[in-house]
Amino acid sequence: MRIKSIQTALFRSPLKTPFKTALRAVYDLEDIVVIIECKNGLFGYGEGAPTAVITGETLGTMSEAIKYISRFLIGLNIDTDFDEIINIIHSKLLHNTTAKSALEIAIYDLISKYRKKPLYALLGGVETTFRTDITISLNDIDKMVSDSLDAVNLGYDMLKIKLGNDAKKDIERVVEIYNALPKNILLRLDANQGWNKEEAVEIMQTIENLGIFPELLEQPVIADDTDGLRYIKNKIKTPILADEAVFSLSQAKHILETESADFLNIKLAKCGGISEALKIAKLAQDHSIKCMMGCMLEGPIGIVASLHVVSAVSNTINMIDLDAVSLLSNKPKNCSAVFNESQITLSENGGLGITY
Ligand SMILES: [Mg+2]
Repeated sequence: MRIKSIQTALFRSPLKTPFKTALRAVYDLEDIVVIIECKNGLFGYGEGAPTAVITGETLGTMSEAIKYISRFLIGLNIDTDFDEIINIIHSKLLHNTTAKSALEIAIYDLISKYRKKPLYALLGGVETTFRTDITISLNDIDKMVSDSLDAVNLGYDMLKIKLGNDAKKDIERVVEIYNALPKNILLRLDANQGWNKEEAVEIMQTIENLGIFPELLEQPVIADDTDGLRYIKNKIKTPILADEAVFSLSQAKHILETESADFLNIKLAKCGGISEALKIAKLAQDHSIKCMMGCMLEGPIGIVASLHVVSAVSNTINMIDLDAVSLLSNKPKNCSAVFNESQITLSENGGLGITY
């Protein structure tokens, strides 16, 4: 199954409402779809959304990076040269993790199509139905409360509350949302690096002293401040989830060895794709640490690929934050996975279940 050509296309979709965090505001999704054609007529699809403030990539750098790596892949056989192909994707260019992930996803799509199995089954997974949380964007308190109520009415019972632009207001946000919701709703807080460590401890101790115990606090401080993460972890009851602090396997190792976080957030766009995500999950399993599978604001191919990985390592990745498709105005076409708000079911077709 030799690679004949590798193309990229732009995928654009309006959002239902603007997506806002402490780092950015997004009004339309724009990402890159990778299309690999093999000489046997099979097509594979991958996808990635550049997130300049997190991975340093843009649409332009992604398509150039994919073009650059692709020249080393043309003519290779996905069935017999699989390991070499994955190695080339990761060794010919530094960084550019979302571009690498998009390429890798298309390769995994092809190998599992070729073997006539859904990707999750090829990777050893069994589960096909998953529940995701939904993100509540960072806005004025009233808007965040009404968005939270809307999400609960749609059937979500896990909310990812975006915080991080104003310590005093952030406490009010959590308290007002908590008071407005039924008590069975799980709250995940994500400050997206917006606090310093002292502020984070003060905010969380205030919340905890009010009897509010979120499931976790995600990335309160700047990405490279793992000492800060550990400082906070040792002073509050709420578990810490490392997100922007963990891109690579070696960063994951550092966080686990220094016990700087309770959980790791794995995203294909941060680690460079499925092969690295599986390695990080294995490492976390060896340390008895649970992981979240997260996403960028991306399209259905990236989300579906992430869920195939979750299925493969569901004993370690037991928290799912893959809500990006629910935030799009249009229901995904060409995708046989079923997206029903909080519930997503993978297709049993070969590959990822993407058809164009
Ligand atoms: Mg996050």
